[in-house]
Amino acid sequence: MQKFDVVVVGGSAAGLTAAITSRRHYPEKSVLLIRKEEQVLIPCGIPYIFGTLGSCSKNLIPDAVLQKNGIDLVVDEVTGIRRDKKSVTTAGGKEFGYSRLVLATGSVPVTPPIPGLDKENIFAIRKDIPYLERMLQALDKASSLLIVGCGFIGVELAEECKKTRDISIKIVEMLRHCLQLTYDQEFSIKAEDVLRAADIEILTGERVEAFLGDKAVKKVKLSSGAEVDVDMVILGIGARANTSLAEKAGLEIGPTKGMQVNRYMQTSDLDIFACGDCAEKVSFFDGKPSPLKLASIATMEARIAGTNLFGPRRANMGVIGVYSTILGDIAFSAAGLTEYGARERGYSIIVGEAEAVNRHPGSMEGGAPLKVKLIFEAGTRVLLGGQVSGAKSAGELINGISACIHQRMTADDIATFQTGTHPGLTASPIAYQLVNAAEMAIASSWRMSTRWERPA
Ligand SMILES: Cc1cc2nc3c(=O)[nH]c(=O)nc-3n(C[C@H](O)[C@H](O)[C@H](O)COP(=O)(O)OP(=O)(O)OC[C@H]3O[C@@H](n4cnc5c(N)ncnc54)[C@H](O)[C@@H]3O)c2cc1C
Repeated sequence: MQKFDVVVVGGSAAGLTAAITSRRHYPEKSVLLIRKEEQVLIPCGIPYIFGTLGSCSKNLIPDAVLQKNGIDLVVDEVTGIRRDKKSVTTAGGKEFGYSRLVLATGSVPVTPPIPGLDKENIFAIRKDIPYLERMLQALDKASSLLIVGCGFIGVELAEECKKTRDISIKIVEMLRHCLQLTYDQEFSIKAEDVLRAADIEILTGERVEAFLGDKAVKKVKLSSGAEVDVDMVILGIGARANTSLAEKAGLEIGPTKGMQVNRYMQTSDLDIFACGDCAEKVSFFDGKPSPLKLASIATMEARIAGTNLFGPRRANMGVIGVYSTILGDIAFSAAGLTEYGARERGYSIIVGEAEAVNRHPGSMEGGAPLKVKLIFEAGTRVLLGGQVSGAKSAGELINGISACIHQRMTADDIATFQTGTHPGLTASPIAYQLVNAAEMAIASSWRMSTRWERPA
C-alpha cells in the first residue's frame, strides 16, 4: 500500500483547490488526488457547451495545474474508506494510506420522483462527458425543449440551447418569477424580459405533474392541467450532496444531507476533512443550515480545509451566496440576502439603489447602465446583501460587495470608503453606484420601505 500525507478524493473545484492549497501551505507533504474521470469538466461552463462552446472538449480543467503544484494523480473510483487503517480502497483494486483525507466528492442532480421520469430524452445536468455528449446529440435532433426550473442553470441553458438552434424552448418554474431565490422581483422581471426577447417562453407558478409518451417523452402535464408537447426535457432543479462514501464509512451526515463538518472543515473523524458540494453548510447570517451549492463556496471551503490539515489556521464563517450570470448583454449579480429574504428572516431593513452609466462621460466607449441595490439592517446599518445588473463589470463589483458583507461593513463605511475611478473604466466618482446606493439607504432610513411585496 502506497502512503501519502494527504489524499484528496474528487478532482473538481473543491478537490483541486484543496490539493493545491495543502501543497502551498505544507510544501513538504505528499499529496495524492484521486478522481473518477479521465478529464474534468469546468462545472460552471456546462451550459455553454450547448451553445457558445459547442463541445465538452472546450470546457475542461487543464491537468497541468497538478504537475505544476507537485500533486500526484490517480484516475480511479474510491469505493471505501478504512478509517481504522487510515486508507482508501478503489474500484481498480488499489489501496492508498493517508495521514489526512479530504473528501470533495461533490453533488449529483436532484431528480424528483415525477411519474414518467424514466422516459427517453429526459436529462438532468450531470458533470459527466459521455452523458453530456448524448444530451448534445439529442438536442440537435429535438424541435421542442422543456426545461424544468428557472434558476441559474435553467436560464443559462435556455439561452445557450437557443443560440445555435432553431428550437422552441419553454421553462417551467413553480415560483412566481425566474431566479426568485436569488433576486428581488425587479431584477427577476428584467431577466424574464431578456429571455422572452430571445423567444423563450416562461411558464411560472406551474409544477410538472407527469411526463407522458410511450418510450420517449412526448408531452409534459402541468399542475394547471395544461399539456405541453415536447420531444426533450432537461431538469435544472438543484443538486444533492454525494455522501455515499462518507455514509459507508460511518461519518456524520448533517441536516441538509451533506457531510457534517466543523468550522475547520473537519468531519466527525478529525483526520478526514470535507469541502465543496458534498459538505454541510451554515449561513453566514444566522448560522442555520444552508443548502447553497456553488463553485465559489466549494473553493472557499477547500482553501480552509487545505490550510487546516495539520493544525487549525482558518475558520469558515458560513456561506454568503454570491451569484453572477449574463443573459443577452445584461449581467445579473447578487450576494447575500435579498430584500424579500431579509424581511422573511425577520430583519428590519433599509434599502438604497443607484443607477449610472459605467463611464464618465457616458459617451466613452463601453458605456452601459449599471444598477446597484444594497440592503442594510436598519438599526446597525450593517450590509446584508446586494444586487447589481447591467454592464459586465457587475460580475466583479458583486465580489467587492461580498467582501463588504463578509467584513460586516455599514452603510456609512461604504458611503465614505475611497474608490478608484477612471473615465474609460467606471462611473464618475460623483455617481459611483456602490457609494450612492449606500447614501440612498442612509437617506431613506427615517422611514421603512413600503415597496416590498410578498411573492406568491
Ligand atoms: C450547469 C451548472 C452550472 C453551474 N454554474 C455555476 C456558476 O456559474 N457559479 C458557481 O459558483 N457555481 C456554479 N455551479 C455549481 C458548481 O458547479 C458546484 O458548486 C461545483 O462543481 C462544486 O464543486 P465540487 O468540487 O464540490 O463538486 P463536483 O464538481 O461535483 O466534483 C466532484 C468530484 O468528485 C469526483 N468523485 C465523486 N465521487 C468519487 C469517488 N468515489 N471516487 C473518485 N472521485 C469521485 C467526481 O468525479 C468529481 O471530480 C453550477 C453547476 C452546474 C451543474
